[in-house]
Amino acid sequence: MNPDSIKEKYPNLPARVEIYDSTLRDGSQARNISFSLEDKLVIAESLDRAHLHYIEGGWPNPTSPKDMEFFREVKKLSLKNARVTAFGSTRRASNKPEVDPILRTLLDADTEYIAIFGKSWDLHVNEVLRIPLDDNLKLIEDSVAFLVGEGRHVVYDAEHFFDGWKDNPDYALATLRAAEAGGADIVVLCDTNGGTLPVEITKACIACRETVSIPFGMHCHNDAGLSSANTLAGILEGAQQVQGTVNGIGERSGNDNLCTTIPNIQLKLGVPCMSAEDLTGLMDLSRFVSEVSNEFHNHRQPYVGESAFSHKGGAHIDGVIKNPRTFEHIDPKAVGNERRLILSDQSGTATVMAKLQKIYPDLDRKGPLVKTILSELKKKEHAGYQYEAAQGSFELLAARVVDGFEPPYTLGGFRVITDRRQADAMVSEATIKLIVDGKEEHTASEGHGPVDALNGALTKALYRFYPSLESVRLEDYKVRVLTTNEGTEASVRVLIECTDGRDVWGTVGVSENVIEASYIALCDSYTYKLVLDQRKGKH
Ligand SMILES: [Zn+2]
Repeated sequence: MNPDSIKEKYPNLPARVEIYDSTLRDGSQARNISFSLEDKLVIAESLDRAHLHYIEGGWPNPTSPKDMEFFREVKKLSLKNARVTAFGSTRRASNKPEVDPILRTLLDADTEYIAIFGKSWDLHVNEVLRIPLDDNLKLIEDSVAFLVGEGRHVVYDAEHFFDGWKDNPDYALATLRAAEAGGADIVVLCDTNGGTLPVEITKACIACRETVSIPFGMHCHNDAGLSSANTLAGILEGAQQVQGTVNGIGERSGNDNLCTTIPNIQLKLGVPCMSAEDLTGLMDLSRFVSEVSNEFHNHRQPYVGESAFSHKGGAHIDGVIKNPRTFEHIDPKAVGNERRLILSDQSGTATVMAKLQKIYPDLDRKGPLVKTILSELKKKEHAGYQYEAAQGSFELLAARVVDGFEPPYTLGGFRVITDRRQADAMVSEATIKLIVDGKEEHTASEGHGPVDALNGALTKALYRFYPSLESVRLEDYKVRVLTTNEGTEASVRVLIECTDGRDVWGTVGVSENVIEASYIALCDSYTYKLVLDQRKGKH
């Protein structure tokens, strides 16, 4: 379906959709994620640069001083585009709104917009709040009315709306009416448990549209892997706001992933929610948030994963080179990604050429250099090297052949020892001798294991000469034992993935000794970073 026929079929499709980011609030509920104040501020800046419409900063409450501090500090950043929103709940049943500490603290956060959630599911009112159903309606209405009376715009989050609607539709809809009567700007329908099907979402959204006259939005969790489909189902019925998190981080299986849903809204439904230029920054935003969250960037993530547009099979590569539409659903550049052609033993000249094209656009595909690169590749692959995930090592190999490139340092030697000095205490120590510009550099380092110690000693030596290497971080380290036909010594292949916060590259090393294989891959990683810097014109 193209966007024009979607518009025809869905007359309630909105003219635009606003993006409400909850990475700093709902996203921070994810297991293993703990944002410092500093983290939250740099993420807020990047969300603002991406022109997202709202940034939910956190739940300011007297027991969480970090969130309150965020609202004070974020003001100093003078964000240009996004509206920072404070999040909280409706008042406690026993309090009047004016004296309710939750609502008072929300006002103290001093934001133009406030989001509060309330209960839409009678199960929760009966069993969690344990108050009469009508009392819950009253507290929704007067909590919203109080904040509106204090001059704030209110986003009302209808928690568990879809589960509530399935059990008791009249009551779930009555909670929306209460928020509207209180003066909310918008009601946001939440699939809090994340288990609703798109077809149910559609029906519930139609019921909502027919019940309230203020706009509605979507807040879907991904427990059934349907959050993006559910969000889109809501938009087709007229939802004007979408709540989610960058990379889908959040409790359990996560929130709706804005890095998936934004391109779906914009490129598939044809509804604008971001400028085309900002959309090309989406992959950077995704990587940046992974970086700050100290999480691996999920390479299989739709649109913005490193594998989202990578092709390996010979026929696929051949097809995509002839016409990208054969195996790609969108142009990867639209979201700031790129096509990756993966090298493997089946790679023919076409794949190698396509990979070399970017670095050496003038290389003659029938010339002797390409032949030498291919035969070098074959030799290396025979020895156990694999370049599928090692673009860095592949480019260094090509540079050796094409430019006669040599690494700017050579190894004098290294020594690694691992000691078990006391029970439970293992210590590894490495010493290394490097020759850089004719000068010898001796260093030593301890580490958590032999490879860590060796890496420590190597970087100590290199940082003195190449300070830009300090930005390089090891993201992944994998060892694979290679079985040989000879049945003699087994070799190991070490694959390393590194990043400098912008680019990501893989390198590979093979040896009968795991330390040596690691050393080869580590050296390639640092050397490749120097090559990258050189290409970008800095040293
Ligand atoms: Zn949520």
